This record gives sequence, structure tokens and C-alpha cells, in this order.
Amino acid sequence: MSAESTCKRLRVNVKGIVQGVGFRPFVFQLAVKFSLGGFVLNNSEGVIIEIEGNEQALTSFLNTLKENPPPLARVDSIDMESVTAQGEKDFSIRHTDENSLNLTMVSPDIALCEKCEEEMKDPSNRRYGYPFINCTDCGPRYSIIKKLPYDRPYTSMREFHMCQECAREYNNPLDRRYHAQPISCPDCGPALYLLDKEGKVIAENSEAIRLTCKLIREKKILAVKGLGGFHLVCDATSDEAVSTLRERKKRPSKPLAVMFQDIEAIKKETFINDEEEKLILCKEHPVVVVNKNSTSSLSLHVAPNIERLGVFLPYTPLHVLLLDELNTPIVATSANLSDEPIVIDEKELLSKLGDVVDAVLSHDREIVNGCDDSVIMQSGDQKTLVRMARGYAPKSMLLPKKIGKKILAVGANQKNSIALAFDDHIILSPHIGDLNSIEAFEYFTRTLETFKSFYEFEPDIIVCDKHPEYETTKWAKGLSKENPNIELFEVQHHYAHALACMMEYTLDEKVLAFCFDGTGYGDDGTLWGAEVLIADTKDYERVSYLTPFRLLGATKAVREPRRVGLSLLFECFTLEEVLALDNETTRSFMQEEIKSLHVMWQKGLNSPLTSSMGRLFDAVASLSGIAQILGYEGESGLLIESVSQKIDLSKKFSYTLEEDKIDIRAMIAQIVQMKESAEISAMFISTIANIILDIADQYPSLPVVLSGGVFQNKLLVDILAKEFKNKNIRYYMQQDTPVNDGSIALGQAYYALKHLWSKDEK
Ligand code: ZN
Ligand code: ZN
Ligand code: FE
Repeated sequence: MSAESTCKRLRVNVKGIVQGVGFRPFVFQLAVKFSLGGFVLNNSEGVIIEIEGNEQALTSFLNTLKENPPPLARVDSIDMESVTAQGEKDFSIRHTDENSLNLTMVSPDIALCEKCEEEMKDPSNRRYGYPFINCTDCGPRYSIIKKLPYDRPYTSMREFHMCQECAREYNNPLDRRYHAQPISCPDCGPALYLLDKEGKVIAENSEAIRLTCKLIREKKILAVKGLGGFHLVCDATSDEAVSTLRERKKRPSKPLAVMFQDIEAIKKETFINDEEEKLILCKEHPVVVVNKNSTSSLSLHVAPNIERLGVFLPYTPLHVLLLDELNTPIVATSANLSDEPIVIDEKELLSKLGDVVDAVLSHDREIVNGCDDSVIMQSGDQKTLVRMARGYAPKSMLLPKKIGKKILAVGANQKNSIALAFDDHIILSPHIGDLNSIEAFEYFTRTLETFKSFYEFEPDIIVCDKHPEYETTKWAKGLSKENPNIELFEVQHHYAHALACMMEYTLDEKVLAFCFDGTGYGDDGTLWGAEVLIADTKDYERVSYLTPFRLLGATKAVREPRRVGLSLLFECFTLEEVLALDNETTRSFMQEEIKSLHVMWQKGLNSPLTSSMGRLFDAVASLSGIAQILGYEGESGLLIESVSQKIDLSKKFSYTLEEDKIDIRAMIAQIVQMKESAEISAMFISTIANIILDIADQYPSLPVVLSGGVFQNKLLVDILAKEFKNKNIRYYMQQDTPVNDGSIALGQAYYALKHLWSKDEK
């Protein structure tokens, strides 16, 4: 038989995360394995393969390509066409055309892989004990990229000239470091050093690690440079060290994440199930929020008064070396001033946090793009992303069809992130944070510029929230005023929550969405926050919401649950009755204060109306004596969870569902009759679950969407998931994107996308 009659040649176009993740060497090795000829190259849309050989070998090749791609790759689509066979016997990796615009996706930073860890711990390996070891399957990506294509000269590794040995690995398609852009070794890579508070080098390389560990054992506070920024670290088992860190950082109660040497060490201090163990060990190594163990040896100051603990494993080689040497868990929390972004530069660290730290473990590989740790938790069989950052973001999703315009969505003001949509992609940035300071807003604009330059992106359409005071809204409106060609969409906050969930599951039908959160700007100018919407991708109707109540002192009420508790008491009782009450909320005020707050309430002075579920949690925390003043956002929800025993759905407070209102005033009157905070908390969560289930029963034909920060409450989600399953109700809650305001940009972008598509159809 002649070669022509049995040989076929295919041109294959692979899209997804396929560049900078070892995809071409993987294809090369596969082709060699199946004795196929042809070539592979990167182009602007992904990877192009021309592959030639007998039919059986081609089928095996394609099956492996689909089913077993390299660990960091994500194949979104494979398109194929037959081309004329050329009798090519050899396979090669062709170089990328430098001029072709590279639009492929930026991969997130990935934790140290097993193979690299083995090499690092092997005394005979040339990278033994090397804190910057990495390969095509692991190491920094997003945090070191200045521009695309992802090539070493466009990263902060540009400063380091590869030695001969590294260059040999880099250029060998059969090596596991083939084209690993951050490749380096002790001879040619970044250097590690320990600085004192004045910025003077006091130790280098392995000596720096030894001295760092010695200082941690001496209860000192250190800063350690990680992938996307600095951490503040100290001995997590020492009350002295942790309380010193809290005092110096002026962070009285917000829980701190703890890094452990290995999974066994985590199991000693916590109760984790199989799902949580998998999450802790996954290749992203996020912070996983789990239940503390009552016999935990950790300092009680790590997560005061709550049962939860954020735990994670060392994710850079440097962290592994530190924890192995230390053999004790460390607090590892993002280094920043409150309301400011994570610090990525050692000069900035010393100038801003010089009073907080005793020494700084740093290195000379620049962090180009800051990126916090991701935070995740497991509720029932559902995972909930509390913060999407390192390892998970930038997150790209493939759209079912292309769009002709470029969309920029600027997100909310808290837990901000941005979203870009173009061609057939939508990209969600890592967590940017709360935009409450000039520094934070600068971080927002810097991230925006980074993404614009990655993708040579200039928006045709900008989408923002309706809140006139959001920095993002002001920015978007300013830009559209200057550029009349840019179209501006404003999307209501809670509708954007529902849309974000619909985007994640590509839902395009009518849904019953429960959007429960802190607050968002409503269409009527009041602060919404417990909204039941019937929504599709075009529009929504607000079918039910919590009877509005006043926030006494506006933003002051957000920090002081007792103000919300008092406001709800005013809703239920006369001033005389409130003054006569023997209750935790009223006891936290002086009688005169209650009287003047009542005047404020009556006249509506500085007391905006809200239907916020988050604030209702605050009110219950206050009335039951759990918290009167908060140390951090979301604290009352965590405290309520911590004191609640098992939730019994039959034990609930009274409420009424009338027309479009959820009236809980009867509940307030019942709570003031009760004494046990544990009982009140459990009954409250049961009540909220009952309200959701009752409303869902009214719309049996609609699938349910749960969105908004309130659904970070594990007890609530656990019980709802169970009930929805029992009742055979189809429900959706985000798993791959944040359930809180971190996804507002995604929902906003989805709205504009659907708008464009429906215009095309007309
Ligand atoms: Zn590796
Ligand atoms: Zn080298
Ligand atoms: Fe929200």
C-alpha cells in the first residue's frame, strides 16, 4: 500500500488555556509516541496542530488530547479539518509568529507541584533547597506577566539570564521545563534575603530561611514575600505573637488564615471532611474555611469567638521550606493597611508596615500584578468561593458565540473585581477589594490598565452599578461622558447578583432569584438587600422583599448592630415600651441615647430605609446579645452561625408573607421574650430558610437561584440544599465564581452580552 492511501492529515485548532502550560511539548510527546508527523504552533487564538499518519494513530492521538491534557491546560474547544497529506514523518514545534496578536488567556499562579517538591527535597538534585523551583505545571504566571504573549522577556523573569543548564531544559521539548518561562536555578535565578526593619540585609539564601524561623519561634512578626504579595506571619500557636500582630496591625477580631506544614497538621487542629480535604490539597491551594477542633493548640486570638478557621498549605517552594524547617503552623495574612490593597513591593512594605514587622523575608523577583489568596468553603455538596484570586483568577469562560463589541463591567464597590468580554471570551479579574481608599481605587485602575493591555482592549460598552456613590459608577459615568461613543449600561445590584449565577450556569430562562446581601442601591433609591426577583436575562420583577426598616445613623449602623436592633424595636413597640424593655440591645445604650435615636427614627434623619438581610442578621445578633459593635464586615453572620446548634426547620419565628412584603416584626417581638442566644440564632436561620422555601413553593415552575453574600452562611445553605433536594426543586448557587459582590461585574457583563445577542437576532 502506498503512503498516500493510508495517511491522513488534519489541521486541529485548540482553544482554551493552552499557552504557557506545557501544551506544545505535550502535543510533541504525544505525536512522537504515536509516530505521527506534522507540527504544533501557538497562534493568536490558541494552538494549531497539523498532524499526519494512519487513521488509528490519529484517533488515539486526538482522544488523549481531549481526555488527558496537561494539568494546567483547559481545553475549551477543538476544531478539525482534513487537509492534503504531505508525507511528513517528523514532528516539530514551530516558533510563534511574533507579529501575530496574541489573545490567549493568562493563566493564574499555581502552587508548587509534587515533582518539583520532590526535586527540591532531593539532596542530589541541582535545585535542592531552591526556593524558586518551578516547571510548566506549576509556579508564578499572572503575578509576573507584564504583557502578552506569555514569554520570558515580558515577565519579571526578564532580569535573570538563564544559565546553560536551565537553557538546555528550557529548549528541550521532552523536558518538563520546556518553555517554562520562570525557569531558574541557584546559579541564575532570583536571590532570597532577610531584611531588618531598616531594610538592611541581615541574611541570605538558606541562612535567611533559618534566621526567619528562629525569629518566628521567638514570637516575632515577619513579612514574607509570596506569589501575589507579602504575608504577615507569626507563630499561630503563640498568644503573645498573635496578639502582638493584632495590636500592631490594629485588627482586633477579624479571623486570620493559618498555613500548616501538611494535611496531617491541619487534621490535628480541625474537623475536615473528604471534600474539604480535597479542596485543601487541590492544585490551587486556596485558603479553606473549616471547623476548628475544640482541642486545637492554636492561639484563641487567631479566630476569636467563632468556630471557623481559614487553613491552607504552603503553595510556593519558599513556603514549603519555611514550614518544613519550622514544624509549627503560622498565621499568614495579607500584608496591607486596612482598606488598602495587598503590598507587593518591599520598599512600600517597609514604609507602610515598618512598625508592624520585625523583619522581612524577601527576594528580587518582582511581583508585577498583586493577587490575594483565594478563600473557599464547602457547604453540603456545594463549594462556595468567598474570594476569587490566586489560583482561580484571572478566570476565563468561553461564550457560546462571538460578540462584535468589547464590554467592560466595573463591578461593585465592595469586593470589587472587573470583567471583560470580547470575541468569544469573558474574563473575570482577581479580587481587587473594597474601594474605600485612594490606594484601593488606584489598584482598581491599575488592574484595569493591566487587563486592557493584556488583551489590547478598549471598551465599546461599559456596564456599572446604579449606585451613584460607588467609585466604579462615578468612574464609568465620567468615562462615558468624555467618550460619547462608549455605550453605558447601568444594572441594578441585586439583578446583577442573579445574572452572575445565571452566567455561571449559562441559564437563559425565567428564574426565581433570592438575592440576599448587605446592601445595594435599589430602583426606588432605597437600600435593597433581601430581594426576591423573577428574572431572565432581559429584565426582572421584584416580587418580594423584607419590609424596609431604618438604619439609624446610616453607615454607622453597619458597624453597630445595636442601632439596627433598636430600629427594629421602634418598628414593633412604642418609645415607652422600648425604654421599659430589659434587653441586650437597649442595655447597650443610655436611656437618653435611645430617646434621641427615636427622634432620629421618627423624623427619618440620617436614617435611610433598607430591606437588607445582612442588616437583619446584625439586628438579631444585637437583640440576642451576641454582638453590639462589630470588628469586621460579616462578623454577626459568623457569630450567629457559631452559637447556633443544629437547625430544626419546625422551630421558627412568626412571619407573614403578604403580597410583595416579607414581614418579620412578629419575630422581633418574640425574640425580646427569649434569653438563650443559641436558641434565638438557630431559630432565626430556620426562619430565613422557611421564608425562602415558602416563597419557592409559590412559584413551583421556576428554578431557584441563590445569590449574594448572605449565602456564605453555611448553616443556611446546608439546610436549603437538603430541602430543595427533598422537594425536587431545581436550584442554582455559584461554585466557580464568588457568591458575593465579587461577581457583580460578571452579572453586569452578562447583561450587556445578552443585550448584544438579542440585538443581533432582530
Ligand atoms: Zn512543578
Ligand atoms: Zn540556571
Ligand atoms: Fe451585593
